[in-house]
Amino acid sequence: MADCIFCKIVSKQIPSEVVYEDDQVFVFHDINPQAPTHLLVIPKEHIQSAAHVTEKDKELLGQMFVVIKNVTEKLGLDKEGYRIVNNCGELGGQQVDHLHFHVLGGRQMQWPPG
Ligand code: 5GP
Ligand code: ZN
Repeated sequence: MADCIFCKIVSKQIPSEVVYEDDQVFVFHDINPQAPTHLLVIPKEHIQSAAHVTEKDKELLGQMFVVIKNVTEKLGLDKEGYRIVNNCGELGGQQVDHLHFHVLGGRQMQWPPG
């Protein structure tokens, strides 16, 4: 999508600190980290939000979670644990309208989130 920041990151028009990519999924460091490790896991294809996922995205969503497992293991986050966050829509606090999971690790998380 032409004016989407994350599509531009996928196509490398905007630089990012890339952690992993395959034909479907792209992982990079958040520019404004909220934890010692703060990754963003996104589909390469533009999907606006979790509310816009359809039947055809089932395999992609599964692959995103396999990637989260593999990347967190590689970075050594899996032993102590980490948090996966999806902000969906306005009340969910979503600021970038391209589906993404935040993966936060390296500190104790609190509940409930703000
Ligand atoms: P949201 O609030 O939509 O759930 O999360 C958007 C996230 O994208 C924020 O944590 C923000 O710091 C991150 N972000 C926004 N623009 C950029 C960018 O240009 N590069 C990177 N690496 N992260 C970005
Ligand atoms: Zn996009």
